[in-house]
Amino acid sequence: MESIVDLRSDTVSHPTPAMREAMARAEVGDDVLGEDPTVNRLEAMAAEKMGKQAGLFVPSGTMGNLAAVLAHCQRGEEAIMGNLGHTYLFEAGGISALGGVFANTLPNQPDGTLNLDDVRSAIRGLDIHQPVTRLLILENTHNRCGGVVLTAAYMQVAGELMHLQGLKLHLDGARVFNAAAALGVKAADLAAPADSVTFCLSKGLCAPVGSVLCGSAEFITKARRIRKQLGGGMRQAGILAAAGIVALEQMVERLPQDHARAKRLADGLAGIPGIEFPLGKPQSNMVFVQLNQSLPLTASEVAARLVSHGIKVGVTGPRMFRMVLHYWVDDSGIDRTLKAFQEVLQVQASVS
Ligand SMILES: *Cc1c(COP(=O)(O)O)cnc(C)c1O
Repeated sequence: MESIVDLRSDTVSHPTPAMREAMARAEVGDDVLGEDPTVNRLEAMAAEKMGKQAGLFVPSGTMGNLAAVLAHCQRGEEAIMGNLGHTYLFEAGGISALGGVFANTLPNQPDGTLNLDDVRSAIRGLDIHQPVTRLLILENTHNRCGGVVLTAAYMQVAGELMHLQGLKLHLDGARVFNAAAALGVKAADLAAPADSVTFCLSKGLCAPVGSVLCGSAEFITKARRIRKQLGGGMRQAGILAAAGIVALEQMVERLPQDHARAKRLADGLAGIPGIEFPLGKPQSNMVFVQLNQSLPLTASEVAARLVSHGIKVGVTGPRMFRMVLHYWVDDSGIDRTLKAFQEVLQVQASVS
């Protein structure tokens, strides 16, 4: 029986053998007391990679973004963000439920950016009827826009716009290393204009658990208290941080392989009648495709048939799929996926 090719997300990636070994050997202590040497090392490495003073190991990207928003904003204050952003769509409304922070959403452009004129007009004035604007959140790579990449130049201008008015920029950089690899720049170059940045260890970097929030030493001290409030203070977390260190040391540099495979998968799928790319061809490790009206199958029906060929894909709309490349999908996985799509869709074409 061949293994399953799981393209639903890069979150399904398992820790590598090197990570399991590092986890078994990790030196640990009580991290809530600041005494876990492995967590301390991961936080220092992460801060260095992001070009920030300090880092905070958190259980998830969701908690990293939440702690950042709560550290930047008081209750009743407002964060500006994209209407297709992860914080708006997929974090269970935590900033509002737990922080009383108001979400002012602006339309994400197809390239993942927010129009900066829209941002400028969204920033509130002194009128006491209005909430106080405090923060702008950007996402890079942008997941729902297709795994698209926002340039360092755009990040820079967005940061300047906020800072000129005394406001803050948070980067949801869950996949900022993918963005950096795609652009051929350092992740720190993309994070430089941001006051805070979160990135995930548990996606394309393959660690089992965790994200790191980075920012100034003062900001991280504040966020550390918020993490404790949220129940995110972990004790001998060095067991997890050890995998994160391997992720930063070994997995960042191989991300271009995932991007190359995403392109190869997209090129192969482009040759199958009825498959379209409304979000464009892949810029990083994600491939979004749509079934056009010539195919009388929904995305869920196709996904179910692909499962019987050993292929799992994400369904993101009635006719839309997302496939995400990661360390555990190799070239033969791409070949098997293309063959399965051909069989599922051609069988259908011949009966219709
Ligand atoms: C996955 C993801 C997160 C949150 O990560 P979790 O660890 O699943 O909570 C945040 N932002 C983006 C863009 C993501 O893709």
